[in-house]
Amino acid sequence: MIYFDNAATTKPLDSAVKAAVDAMSAEGFGNPSSLHGLGLSASQKVSAARKVIAGSIGASPEEIYFTSGATEADNTAVIGAAMSNGKRRRQIVTTSVEHPAVAEPIRRLEAQGFEVVRVSPREGGYFADDIVNAVSKETCLVSCMAVNNETGSVLPIEEAFRRIKKQYPDTLTHCDAVQCYMKLPVKVKSLNADMISLSGHKVHAPKGIGALYIRKGVHIASLISGGGQERGFRSGTESVPLIAAFGAAVGELCGSLDERFAYVSELSALLRSRVSALGIAVNSPADGSPYVNSIAVPGLRSEVLLHFLEQKEIYVSSGSACSKGKKSSVLSEFGVPDKLADFTIRVSFCAENTADEIEALIAALKEAQDTLQKVR
Ligand code: PLP
Repeated sequence: MIYFDNAATTKPLDSAVKAAVDAMSAEGFGNPSSLHGLGLSASQKVSAARKVIAGSIGASPEEIYFTSGATEADNTAVIGAAMSNGKRRRQIVTTSVEHPAVAEPIRRLEAQGFEVVRVSPREGGYFADDIVNAVSKETCLVSCMAVNNETGSVLPIEEAFRRIKKQYPDTLTHCDAVQCYMKLPVKVKSLNADMISLSGHKVHAPKGIGALYIRKGVHIASLISGGGQERGFRSGTESVPLIAAFGAAVGELCGSLDERFAYVSELSALLRSRVSALGIAVNSPADGSPYVNSIAVPGLRSEVLLHFLEQKEIYVSSGSACSKGKKSSVLSEFGVPDKLADFTIRVSFCAENTADEIEALIAALKEAQDTLQKVR
């Protein structure tokens, strides 16, 4: 099997699987809230993972809240920020290319009367000026992703957030860093984000776990009330196995960011030069994340090509996995012509991929071009 769908999900590391299994074993299965030794041992696993996740972004452990994934983290950040704002400022600034986990809760707030400004890319990319200029004293929240999940485009969040926080210190900034985390540096100090969303299953931990960083001193409304876990902010018995696995995966990966980035950059450069030679268009920008490569094979519809590759046990995605075949507006926002969007597949890497796997993909793409019926 050749797995090129790492932006959709990644294979859990052995260390993550082991941590999850240990936390379900006879010695590890306790409830972290229980006062006996079994509870203490579970609570220590949660604390250890929290410390690792916090350290990986330069935060302190008290600033990390575990969630069921980035979707919950994004919803909490967006709705929690809007709810805590009262009736004072009613404007939200975001981009037109956000993942639905951010775009949909913002749409709900819009239906409730919030004014939403959606900043579009220009010339195929984002300019910090455009994001900053959209903000006003009416803005309660700016929510922008760091790396786009469909194209790998890197947004100028650091500069935009720095300037916004300087001009409007009370405006909250939120970054969906899901496609950036453990791939490019995500550091709270330089990012100037009050809130950052992270997902476990994109970084070789299991699905169903994520985290929301909330900068110390920032107060947003909590969405889940109950037994008061996560310092009263996110109730519900902690999923110790998933939290421990998240901590184990990040602990293993966080020391090798630069090394993996350099390696994956080589893979991406190889893929892009080889496909260009076949007349295949590269939608992703040259300065985007090398982990996400959006390409379009003129004449071969995405779904047809995806299933052709699948028969050869090569797994890619058609655009974004979350859009489940629905036509994505993100590609057209980034200036990909409609006639190419229908032919787009996403080839997304992790550091376990190899140059040989890319050669196998190239051979399969060539075969597809030669044999499949062309749709024009
Ligand atoms: N944000 C981005 C940019 C994503 O790519 C994804 C998943 O594809 C999510 C949020 C949702 O993450 P999760 O699956 O952890 O809920």
